[in-house]
Amino acid sequence: MAYQTINPYTNEIEKTFENTTDEELEQTLLTAHQLYLDWRRDNNLEERKRVILRLGQLLRARRTEYATIMTRDMGKLIGEAEGEVDLCASFCDYYVAHADEFLAPDIIATTTGRAKVLKQSLGVLVAVEPWNFPFYQIARVFIPNFIIGNPMILKDASNCPASAQAFAEAVKEAGAPAGSLTNLFISYDQVNKAIADKRVVGVCLTGSERGGATVAQEAGSNLKKNTMELGGNDAFIILADADWDLVKKVAPAARLYNAGQVCTSSKRFIVLEKDYDRFLKMMKEAFSKVKMGDPLDPLTTLAPLSSKKAKEKLQAQVDLAVKNGAKVYYGNKPVDLSGQFFMPTILTDITPNNPIFDTEMFGPVASVYKVKSEEEAIALANNSSYGLGNTVFSKDYAHAERVAAKIESGMSWINAGWASLPELPFGGVKNSGYGRELSSYGIDEFMNKHLIYEARQ
Ligand code: NAP
Repeated sequence: MAYQTINPYTNEIEKTFENTTDEELEQTLLTAHQLYLDWRRDNNLEERKRVILRLGQLLRARRTEYATIMTRDMGKLIGEAEGEVDLCASFCDYYVAHADEFLAPDIIATTTGRAKVLKQSLGVLVAVEPWNFPFYQIARVFIPNFIIGNPMILKDASNCPASAQAFAEAVKEAGAPAGSLTNLFISYDQVNKAIADKRVVGVCLTGSERGGATVAQEAGSNLKKNTMELGGNDAFIILADADWDLVKKVAPAARLYNAGQVCTSSKRFIVLEKDYDRFLKMMKEAFSKVKMGDPLDPLTTLAPLSSKKAKEKLQAQVDLAVKNGAKVYYGNKPVDLSGQFFMPTILTDITPNNPIFDTEMFGPVASVYKVKSEEEAIALANNSSYGLGNTVFSKDYAHAERVAAKIESGMSWINAGWASLPELPFGGVKNSGYGRELSSYGIDEFMNKHLIYEARQ
C-alpha cells in the first residue's frame, strides 16, 4: 500500500512516504507499552496537561501552515481546513480544563461498606483514521486518551500521510514523550498484527462499514475493546412549522461542506408535499452558485473530492441510482476542470427498491424525498441501515425535539446543520457504529473503571 499525497486539485503526486517495517512496528509497540507502564507508575497527569496546552498553542500559531498541508493532501477548502485546526485546538482547551474532573474517582453509595471507582488508563491503543478531517479525526481520539495515559499507534488513511505526520510531529514538539502518538505507514496486515499484540488493549476506528467490519472482526477475535465511527445517511427533516429563512441558510451547506464528504452531512432531505417544489428550487439556486476551483483560493466555495477513486465511486453511485429510476433534478454533468471535481447534484424519485436508497453517497449529492405527513417523514428517516445523525427544523423547539427523539440515531441537531464540539458526544447506532468520541463520554471509552471496595465487618 502506497502512502502518498496526490493533490486532488492538481492530480500531482506531491510526496510518497516509505512503508513502516515490521521491526519499526515492534519498536513502536515496545516504546508505547513502556510509556504506559511509566505513566501507570508515576501518573504524570500534570505533565500531560501541559503538553496538551502547548499542543493547542502550536495548532493556533500554525493554523494556516497545517491547513495547507490538509488541503494539499485531500483537497478541502483552505478556510474549512483552518476551521478544523481551530476546532482541534479547542479540544486541547476542553480536555485540559476538565481532566481532573473526568479522572476523579467516583464514590459509590453503598450501605454495605465503602466503595469507589478509580479512573485508570488501559494501555496502548491502535487508532485507524480516515482522510475527510485529517487533523480532527486524530485529535478527537488522541487528546482524551493522552490525558488518561493511553499511548496511541496511528494508522491514518493512505491518502493523507503528510497531515498525519504533521500532527504527530506537533504532538512531539509539544513535549509528549516518545510513544505517546506514533504515526505509522503500515499495511492492513500490520494493523491486524498490532491489534493481536498483547501489549495493545483496544482499537478505535473511524471509516467505512467495510473497513470497520474488518477491523472490528480482528479486534473481536482478539478480545480487544473497540469503538467504531462509521458512515451515515443522515436525514434533514423540514417540519410544517419550519423557519424557511433558516432552512435556506442551512440546507445547502449541510450537504456541500467539505465537498459533501462528512459522515454527518445531511444526505437525505425529507420534505412535506406542500414544500417540495420550493425546496427543490431553493437547493438548485444555491447549488448552481458554487464556485469550483483551487481549494487554496479563499474565493473557491466547492472543493474537489479527495481522490480520483472517490469521484469514480460517487459517479458510479449516481449512475446506479438513475438506472434504477432516480431523476436528476440538477447537476450530474462533467466539470471542465482537471481536479477531482463533482458537480453538485440533486436527485429525486429514489424509491426504497433503488439500491442507492440505503447507501451513503460521500460527495455533493442531495437526495430529496417528498412525504405526505410527519409520521411518514419519521418512518422514512428510520428506514435506513445507518443511525448517525439527523437534523430537524421547526420554529417550535418542543415539536422538533419530539420528532428527533423518534429517530433511531446517535445525534440530532435542531434548527441547525450538523455540529461537532468538544463537549458534545459524537457517534452513532445501527451500522453507523458504536461508542462515542469527544465530551466526557469519549474519554470514558478506553478507561479502566477500577472498583475498590471494603465490606463493613
Ligand atoms: P475506509 O476506507 O474505511 O478508511 C478509513 C481508514 O481505515 C483508513 O485509514 C483506511 O486505510 C483504514 N482501513 C480500511 N480498511 C482497513 C482494513 N481492512 N484494515 C486496516 N485498516 C483499514 O473509509 P474512508 O472511505 O476512507 O472514510 C470515509 C468513511 O468514513 C465514510 O463512510 C464516512 O461516513 C466515515 N466517517 C465516519 C465518521 C464518524 O464519526 N462516524 C467520521 C468521519 C468519517 P487506507 O486509507 O490505507 O485504506
